[in-house]
Amino acid sequence: MRVFERIETLEPAARTLIVTHRMRELLGRAAEGSIVNEIRRFELFTDGRAATIALDHPDLIIERRALIQNLAAEAQRAGAKLELGRRFHAMHANGKGPSGKGPRGKGPHEQALTVEVERCADGSREEVHADAIIGGDGAASRVARAAGWAPLETVPLMQAIVPLPKDMPADTVRVWFVPQDTPYFYWLIPESATRGALGVIGESGAETRHHLERFLEKRKLDPIEFQGARIPVYKRWIPVRRAVGGGSVYLVGDAAAQVKVSTVGGIVTGFRGALGVAEAILNGGASRELRTLRRELDFHLLLRRSLHRFQQSDYSRLVDLLNDPAKKSLGEYSRDEAWKMLWRVCLRQPRLVLLGLRGLLMRSKSIDKTRA
Ligand SMILES: Cc1cc2nc3c(=O)[nH]c(=O)nc-3n(C[C@H](O)[C@H](O)[C@H](O)COP(=O)(O)OP(=O)(O)OC[C@H]3O[C@@H](n4cnc5c(N)ncnc54)[C@H](O)[C@@H]3O)c2cc1C
Repeated sequence: MRVFERIETLEPAARTLIVTHRMRELLGRAAEGSIVNEIRRFELFTDGRAATIALDHPDLIIERRALIQNLAAEAQRAGAKLELGRRFHAMHANGKGPSGKGPRGKGPHEQALTVEVERCADGSREEVHADAIIGGDGAASRVARAAGWAPLETVPLMQAIVPLPKDMPADTVRVWFVPQDTPYFYWLIPESATRGALGVIGESGAETRHHLERFLEKRKLDPIEFQGARIPVYKRWIPVRRAVGGGSVYLVGDAAAQVKVSTVGGIVTGFRGALGVAEAILNGGASRELRTLRRELDFHLLLRRSLHRFQQSDYSRLVDLLNDPAKKSLGEYSRDEAWKMLWRVCLRQPRLVLLGLRGLLMRSKSIDKTRA
């Protein structure tokens, strides 16, 4: 297997990310080597109200650069050839391969797809042949465009690295719901005892930066640096395989919008997507992981639809309704088991179901108004 990556060295920008403990099961050793902190509590704030949720299984703060380096080392140990400074440029079906005109051959020139790979340093191109290509090239995936998938809708995510406030323990994440600024939320995630990432997801880039700067000012936090990018929005399940001539093209991660749209976290779901594609290739198309991932992503979409029209009074009610048994259920399951978590929460506080339904109805009313 050959892996093409456009960056020139395995020294990508450092960035800390928060993931659920599911990451440990998925990645084992590669995950362990990149963990820099563990999170045991979430504090939720809205309009002067607060709720604390203690996690039974800590969330993990991971360092992206270390994770990438560990994964690269594991891939190489497993026999993959890593080719850095090479960019996927284009591909076409060449009439060979399993269902093409020619017989399936063993040599590279008998494979179904021809891929053009560009050397980033000088723009020179090389042709590579394969029966299957996997595009894990992010939200603006060139592999997806070349194989005919439609472009994805994206939202801006921005965060500032800040000194951690003195009153904030290093094992606690803070979340603020401020619906007049964003239908998503602000967060402050400690990456160590002294620094944290304060971020927000918005709908337009300029507005999101403005809101983040105002929020930093209000909290008297001086940014050390800013980080940001566009994150794909999961709108519906994107089939991960397309036949191109006699070959197959697959997508994983952000390229297939495998992002939990309630929290816009894409690391664990992206790895699940990758595991699913591996299963599908090995089992002739069937993958249990892809089925369960789809169900999970659809469930987060339903949640997002409900939360997206929440007003201040709804968030205040949400925090007020979080009684002790409901908070306990929120801490028992991770965001990567949203089904189980919300089922238990709603059993323990049924009025939350009504609040969720209200969010969904508000949404359909506002859609009806736009259509009218
Ligand atoms: C600031 C920020 C904070 C985030 N925080 C979190 C978080 O806390 N938790 C979480 O779960 N998620 C978080 N996310 C989202 C998460 O980072 C993404 O969902 C995840 O990185 C997706 O992984 P990916 O491999 O699919 O895509 P990417 O991480 O985008 O990787 C794509 C790779 O493909 C390479 N590439 C692109 N085009 C080509 C090409 N033509 N040829 C060759 N190589 C190419 C790129 O160089 C890159 O290495 C955050 C995102 C941002 C921007």
